[in-house]
Amino acid sequence: MFNRKDYVSDKDWQRFLDFSKDLETPNVVINLNTIKQNYIRLRDSFPYARIYYAMKSNPGEPVLEMLAEMGSNFDIASRYELDMISKFNVSPDRLSYGNTIKKAKDIKYFYDKGVRMFATDSKDDLKAIAENAPGSRIYVRILVENSVSADWPLSRKFGCHPDMAYDLLVLARDLGLTPYGISFHVGSQQRDIGQWNDAIAKVKYLFTSLEEEEGIRLSMINMGGGFPASYIEPTNTLAEYASEITRYIQEDFGDDIPEIILEPGRSLVGDSGILTSEVILTSRKNNTALARWVYVDAGKFNGLIETLDESIKYPVVTSRDAPGEKEGVVIIAGPTCDSMDIMYEDAKYKLPISLKPGDKLYWLSTGAYTSTYASVAFNGFPPIKTYFMK
Ligand SMILES: *Cc1c(COP(=O)(O)O)cnc(C)c1O
Repeated sequence: MFNRKDYVSDKDWQRFLDFSKDLETPNVVINLNTIKQNYIRLRDSFPYARIYYAMKSNPGEPVLEMLAEMGSNFDIASRYELDMISKFNVSPDRLSYGNTIKKAKDIKYFYDKGVRMFATDSKDDLKAIAENAPGSRIYVRILVENSVSADWPLSRKFGCHPDMAYDLLVLARDLGLTPYGISFHVGSQQRDIGQWNDAIAKVKYLFTSLEEEEGIRLSMINMGGGFPASYIEPTNTLAEYASEITRYIQEDFGDDIPEIILEPGRSLVGDSGILTSEVILTSRKNNTALARWVYVDAGKFNGLIETLDESIKYPVVTSRDAPGEKEGVVIIAGPTCDSMDIMYEDAKYKLPISLKPGDKLYWLSTGAYTSTYASVAFNGFPPIKTYFMK
């Protein structure tokens, strides 16, 4: 189905095995060096952009500390994330409150800590910002359609129609705020690069009409996340994303390129993680069933929530993998007493027939949206532990 070596080099794999061999399962091991390389690659691919790490994708302290030291800015969604990043001496001008859904008292909390950049997509939120964070920079998130080609769409809930974005930016000015720019998110793990083209064209229209009709000159485009990590479903390379997207910007804006912000989450941290689970049981539901069930000690509630609807297909390797080892179709499920705790059934993963309790399933590219995107103690199972490998 795929080759482990397309995801983890022999050297990193050996280092991972040595590092993790005595750790209790389930666990996630994050290779900080991979994140570092990904950050450098993204920065070099978009040399004109500022990077705001979407910290929800992996808020591990060593990750935040390293990215803070490397000069990253941060996209923050809650006061709790703000408290987490405050430990690392990141000045407030490197922070953006990117959640369009916020309590007035949380807006004030951010303002009191010095944050002056806020996302919005509605009138009431904008008014709350004007009241609690006077004079701040405002960017409005627009709706973009992305449910088809993104493996983890972020549409509908966030953003507003461009016509409403227009009105909000006029209102922002009238309320004494600073109209700053437009943001969008084309959907996470977006495999169709053309989605950025459509979004940038909408942004261009807003830049032009606001300047011509209202004299409001916007200066920033926040292009969100959506850049890929390496799962089973293939994607273009980051270099291809960068050259295409750069061309779209140049075609629309010519020599007058605005400030560009990126908010990567998945593409920075996804490939850095390996989640190790242990086989609890294998079974068949009847004597002639072709597919076996493989139950492991990690599931939808402790790290693998993005297998919901089998959306994200992680590469899975096992401790039984060997040349010539016979494989068969499996249904892979988690340990809890909830029947939605099944990771893959339709996807028809094939794993070694010889798998036994105690064997390991290694889930590659699990550095994003795993360790904190989880329940606290469903069925008593504790949250998955994360370890960081230098
Ligand atoms: C989650 C999120 C991101 C990160 O998206 P990825 O696809 O993981 O890179 C960026 N911006 C906002 C506003 C988000 O909510």
